[in-house]
This record gives sequence, C-alpha cells and structure tokens, in this order.
Amino acid sequence: PYDVLIVGGGPAGAAAAIYAARKGIRTGVVAERFGGQVLDTLAIENFISVQETEGPQFATALEQHVKAYDVDIMNVQRAEALVPGDKLIEVKLANGGVLKGKTVILSTGARWRNVNVPGEQEYKNKGVAYCPHCDGPLFKGKRVSVIGGGNSGVEAAIDLAGIVAHVTLIEFAAELKADAVLVRKLKSLPNVTIVTSAQTTEITGDGQRVNGISYKERDTGEVKHVALEGVFVQIGLVPNTEWLKGTLALSKHGEIEIDAKGQTSIPGVFAAGDVTTVPYKQIVIAVGAGATAALSAFDHLIRSSAD
Ligand code: FAD
Repeated sequence: PYDVLIVGGGPAGAAAAIYAARKGIRTGVVAERFGGQVLDTLAIENFISVQETEGPQFATALEQHVKAYDVDIMNVQRAEALVPGDKLIEVKLANGGVLKGKTVILSTGARWRNVNVPGEQEYKNKGVAYCPHCDGPLFKGKRVSVIGGGNSGVEAAIDLAGIVAHVTLIEFAAELKADAVLVRKLKSLPNVTIVTSAQTTEITGDGQRVNGISYKERDTGEVKHVALEGVFVQIGLVPNTEWLKGTLALSKHGEIEIDAKGQTSIPGVFAAGDVTTVPYKQIVIAVGAGATAALSAFDHLIRSSAD
C-alpha cells in the first residue's frame, strides 16, 4: 500500500505529492488528467513569484517538479469509490483496479458550470472567462457581461466594475438571488446594467474573439444583442465529489468538509484545493492546501501504530 495515496493531479495534488515524497514515504498520485483545470487556462499572472505564465506550461512544470521525486503517477485513471477500512483505505478505479493507502488525500478539484450556448466553447479564453480574480485585469477598460445573478455573479460584477468600463449582468430569474447587501452595492455602481428575466442565447464573436452577447427577454420573447469584449460565466462551481457521496461529510454545495489541517470526516483521509470547503478557489491557495494535507497525513502516519 501507499503511505499517502493522492486522488487528483491538479495544483493541490501535485503539492501534496511533493510534500509527501520529501518525507521519504511511499507516495502515489492517481489523476484523470494530470494538471487539472490549469490545462484549460491561458494566462496565469497571480501565482506568486511567477509574474506571467500559461496554463499548459504551468501544468508541465507541476509534473516535472513531481517527477523529480519518487512518486508513482497514475495518469488517465478515474477514481470511482472510496472505501475506508480499519488500517487501509481503498480507492477503486474505473478500470477495475483497486489502490490502497494508509492515508488518502482527495484533491479532485472542481469545474465551472457552462451555460451551454453557442459561442461559449468557441471563445473560451478568447473573451469567455470564468474567474474574475484571474482574468478580470485582462479586460481593463473594456465592456463585459456577467452571466448569473447569484452571490458569485453579483460579487464578480462588483469586482469587475472597478476594473472594466462597463458590466452588464444577466440573470435568468426575475430577481437577483444574491444577498441583499451585495445587490444594494451592485445597484449603487454607475457602470453596471442589470438585466433580469433574461435567457442568454448566444455569445457572439468575430471568429477570433468575443464581440457581444445575445439574450432573450423572457417576458416579451424579444432577443437583444449587447456589444462587448468579455463574458464571465458565473453560474456555479461544481466540486468533483459525485463519486464520494455517502462516504464522507460534504457541504450543501457538495464540497468536502475539512478542518484547518485538511482533515475530512474520515480519519486518515485528508482533502485539499477546489474540491473542499476552502474559501476562494485559486492555484496559490490549492497549492498551500495540498502542502497542509500532506503534512497532516504524515503527522497521522507517525501517530498511528499501523506499520
Ligand atoms: P483541479 O485543478 O481541478 O485538479 C483536479 C484534479 O483531479 C485533476 O487532475 C482531475 O483530472 C482530477 N480528478 C477529478 N476527478 C477525479 C476522479 N474521480 N478520479 C481521479 N482524478 C480526478 N486560478 C488562479 O489562481 N489563477 C488563474 O489565472 C486561474 N485561471 C483559471 C482559468 C480557468 C479557465 C479555470 C477553469 C480556472 C482558473 N483558475 C485560476 C482556478 C485554478 O485553476 C484552480 O483553483 C486550481 O486548478 C485548483 O486546483 P486543484 O488541484 O484543487 O483542482
């Protein structure tokens, strides 16, 4: 068995692997796609000490760093079940294999919910964005739209209004669902237009980049088009925990509940990164959380009598 078995090979899993391996303990990482969300990212400008890089380059660097240590990387393997046991915890894979660990670190990340309208896939990273903290500054002085009027959409619109020229917030329901204090703040901003009861129908572009958004007024059926340079989709970040339902404590949003040490509700099972209840989903935060989880797993190992 592994001393530390890590499920998920994004920034959190990579950091956990490096921290575990540096303790000289048997470490394995199983990942559906080593690199994680970073593989879908273009510019990264907020990983401290790296002024500017691109996602695939960052993912390669993660993998190189992990490979500098004695870590088993099992890529393109999906975990389907977690089976806690007395001494060993099992992870069952889609290919039928079973891996065992004295401790397990879950770092399966999350995914942004797509709006699934024409133009979204085509213009991803070409004007279509999901993370205001990451990509907001790329739209400085430009016009953008935010799709989604829940807390994340309204927070994004407030955040972006301070950077961009103008924000059009589009909400499907008749009212914004965000907290009243956020809605008040949003309504006080001069460069924000709020459109409710509106269904986004298309993200338009010139073949190279986004040039606008179309939505249908749900009351009148009329389709409107707004010219702009960016669209932030803010209709939810879904943690990759479908395979864990019923095995350990999840929040109402499906995130793995952890304490300050990354401990989950199952002894010996730790979690890190976007898949957890950690506030703010960012690379630098996931990396720190991965280190925390690995150190906690090591601490657990030296305190347990199992050999
Ligand atoms: P992830 O990166 O999601 O990695 C999860 C890993 O788990 C992957 O290897 C995945 O294949 C694997 N996995 C999932 N399910 C299973 C399973 N069942 N079995 C096995 N493996 C599984 N953050 C920034 O700080 N700066 C940015 O500029 C930035 N830009 C972004 C741009 C985009 C388009 C996106 C989508 C995100 C961006 N982020 C950015 C957010 C950042 O990518 C995440 O916060 C970070 O990747 C989280 O790391 P993680 O390791 O927790 O999860």
